[in-house]
Amino acid sequence: MLGLMQDWPLRVSTIIDHAARNYGDREIVTRSVEGPIVRTTYKEVHLRARKVAQALSKLGIKEGDVVATMAWNTARHMEAWYGIMGLGAICHTLNPRLFAEQLDYIINHAEDKVIFVDLTFVPVLEAIKDKLPLVKAYVIFTDRAHMPETSLPNALCYEEIVEAENGDFKWVQGDENAACGLCYTSGTTGNPKGVLYSHRSNVLHSLAANTGDALGMRSIDVMLPVVPMFHANAWGITFAAPAVGAKLVMPGAKMDGESICELLETEKVTVTAAVPTVWLMLLQFVEKHGKQLPYLNRVVIGGSAAPRSMVEIFENKYGVEVFHAWGMTEMSPMGTLGSLKYGMENLTDEERINVKCRQGRAIYSVEMKITDDDGKELPWDGKAFGHLMVRGPAVAKAYLKGEGGQILDEDGWFDTGDVANIDADGYMQITDRAKDVIKSGGEWISSIEIENMAVGHPKVAEAAVIGIAHPKWDERPLLIIVPNEGETVTKEEMLKYLEGKIAKWWMPDDVVTIDEIPHTATGKIQKLALRQRFQSYKLPTADAAE
Ligand code: AMP
Repeated sequence: MLGLMQDWPLRVSTIIDHAARNYGDREIVTRSVEGPIVRTTYKEVHLRARKVAQALSKLGIKEGDVVATMAWNTARHMEAWYGIMGLGAICHTLNPRLFAEQLDYIINHAEDKVIFVDLTFVPVLEAIKDKLPLVKAYVIFTDRAHMPETSLPNALCYEEIVEAENGDFKWVQGDENAACGLCYTSGTTGNPKGVLYSHRSNVLHSLAANTGDALGMRSIDVMLPVVPMFHANAWGITFAAPAVGAKLVMPGAKMDGESICELLETEKVTVTAAVPTVWLMLLQFVEKHGKQLPYLNRVVIGGSAAPRSMVEIFENKYGVEVFHAWGMTEMSPMGTLGSLKYGMENLTDEERINVKCRQGRAIYSVEMKITDDDGKELPWDGKAFGHLMVRGPAVAKAYLKGEGGQILDEDGWFDTGDVANIDADGYMQITDRAKDVIKSGGEWISSIEIENMAVGHPKVAEAAVIGIAHPKWDERPLLIIVPNEGETVTKEEMLKYLEGKIAKWWMPDDVVTIDEIPHTATGKIQKLALRQRFQSYKLPTADAAE
């Protein structure tokens, strides 16, 4: 027997409707690409999103078409995103940090028909425009006064096409399972693959993200998503914040320590989210200038592992609670979040930080397990580690156009490619990407754990650990460091610092200093590039073993 409840499709347009109706005057503050801070409200964004939908209809965009954005986090970007999705089209957020070849591949593969673009990225598109035959128009996110000279064909001014409309538009009422968003994984090998979100998956994800033990946002919160909308929907925040009427502070093109610190202060931000490298820049600025973080009470750190020293500084020095989060583009993207659980009220500082360094517990709607190489489930004892598998209504079941083939096993589990352990309280800890794990003497060494300890050294800015071939042990760890400006760190100093912090047999066989560690388009350490660079590196311990 079916339930007798209403059929109310879970469409993302209901989120912005709700925000406009119930929190209409709640602000969205943007550091605009043109420079000044600009203020708008959910009511205004709702109206202008409908104008965007009207303007797109005039350009011939219909339900199911793909419309791209290449833009920073701004209110205009949000208007376009809700306008595109409300029209029943699919909003494809392009990552401008990808290589030109990857970008033109993605734009053609997705069949983008219109691209909304920030002033910053006009040159990026100009460079590849001749390879984009399907794009009918480029809408530049600016007003007439700031319109650049451009070689982009059919370049339109955003403010002009929006202001030409009256907003009298009814959202397309389609199936909740229809596609509404598209984001390509940055893929270190092969072509990037498209993750196609549905209205339903995004609505469910934002409800789950807003539960109390997850982001737990409320209308009294002021959220600053530093994580870009082109990185897995700003981790879902541009859906989750309007769903509860939280004020949004959008950083635009400036994500350096000073700019973020200024917004945290002037806009009285209570919660913020970004990858560790952003927090590194912020903390360096805050420490150097003796600033405090008086309004901030939560910081979400994800995308890469949060180093212990970072968790300690936020929690112990500035009184900001750290939510270590893990997820991936294929998961909409949130999988786990490290808030404290009942019974943890009286932990010592050290015990609390230990918990906070783990990537956290599954949020509602995510099921996870760890398995061995034969697919056998491993216990949640905090020790056994294996392949991290997930499933749920906001987890991908295939990539766009079937790229990559079958991605689920017969029980619907998706292999995340991460290696993890899970403790008895359900806190998961990532030990590595499966392909980055260092196999030494038949055992696995976690590169992430060594990196996280190494960056705790006061002279070290960034660290990466890779496996180097070894005649006796198969592989041994090489620690690669980038010292803070003007500092030098010796191998002896580094190894001494690591003593007692990691298992003896995990001790790196060598330490090298380089100027810069390469990063992927989403800010992760590019291990593949490092492995290539150190391909023929000979460890000092290799000779003795031969
Ligand atoms: P992306 O799809 O670009 O967001 O990348 C997802 C991958 O980033 C995951 O599969 C992990 O390998 C890594 N990742 C995300 N969050 C964390 C975290 N908190 N700690 C360690 N790795 C993470």
